[in-house]
Amino acid sequence: MLWARDELAAEIAARQAAGEVGVLTNGVFDLLHVGHLRGLRAARAEGDFLVVGLNSDASVRRLSKGPGRPLLPAAERAELLAALDCVDYVTLFDEDTATELAAALRPRVYVKSADYADRPLPERAVVEAAGGQVRLVPMVPGRSTSDLLARIQALPSPFRLVIVDRDGTLNREREGWLTHPEQFELLPGAAPAVARLNAAGLQVAVATNQSAVGRGHLSVEALGHIHQRLDELLAAERGEVIGVWSCVHAPDEACDCRKPLPGLLLAAIAAAGCRPHEAVMVGDADRDLQAGRAAGCGATILVRSGKNSPEQLAAAAAYADVVVDDLAAAADWILARCTSSSSV
Ligand SMILES: [Zn+2]
Repeated sequence: MLWARDELAAEIAARQAAGEVGVLTNGVFDLLHVGHLRGLRAARAEGDFLVVGLNSDASVRRLSKGPGRPLLPAAERAELLAALDCVDYVTLFDEDTATELAAALRPRVYVKSADYADRPLPERAVVEAAGGQVRLVPMVPGRSTSDLLARIQALPSPFRLVIVDRDGTLNREREGWLTHPEQFELLPGAAPAVARLNAAGLQVAVATNQSAVGRGHLSVEALGHIHQRLDELLAAERGEVIGVWSCVHAPDEACDCRKPLPGLLLAAIAAAGCRPHEAVMVGDADRDLQAGRAAGCGATILVRSGKNSPEQLAAAAAYADVVVDDLAAAADWILARCTSSSSV
């Protein structure tokens, strides 16, 4: 399937001696697309048979098309090319240009894409010295491997984890400290929202600043009882969280977990076993969304269900990808994104 250069030179010489016109073109052909196909068909139409010089993996890396390129190893790129009806021969070259390949193969026609019209073509001299001609064929606009990669990277990524602030997002925010389990009351629609996210395969975690502990208003044990109640109320509506991550420090303790710092979120992301951009942060205050951005979450959602004033909400919206009424609406937004991305 892959031809060695000297054997291919002999083959081409024999066919051209018999009056056929051999056409040479070359390229990387990483992620074969319709632009490649049309260009190769146009090249083949310039003669009687088409030879494709394929950049070796090492030469692609030297061309610095970007990290991780080529996406496909040379053997696979060659196999795909050889399967096209317009391609007759495939050979590898390891040099930075196809000049040496063209000098060895001596094709009657050498084809490049038309974007070389106003660029120097290093192969031109050797092709013309051997009596051959250079022809330029048009490119297909917007059809390049780099364009394809950019479009793939711009697709919405499915989310795997939703990190939810507690007071004002999941449960009703009180005047004063929430220190007893019976004071803990879920907001309307919050538990069904968690259940819907769970049913769609998303994990849910809670991240909450509880400086009431550090300030001496609440014991760690009492906080545990409150979160036991949280679990029970969610479970009653088939909702489940993988954990509640609490910052129990006072603001002056200079910890690394109190939101807007991302410590709680990063711990939840690690526990969920996902990557930061696969997580969404939902909260009612600027510090929630700032923590989400700092953790690298794929989206941040501001809910209006807390106690913040319109002015505070407007300021917090600067850190939000979307502003919605409550956790139920946030779940709608997240689930819509997951559905649209899974169908691409
Ligand atoms: Zn902390």
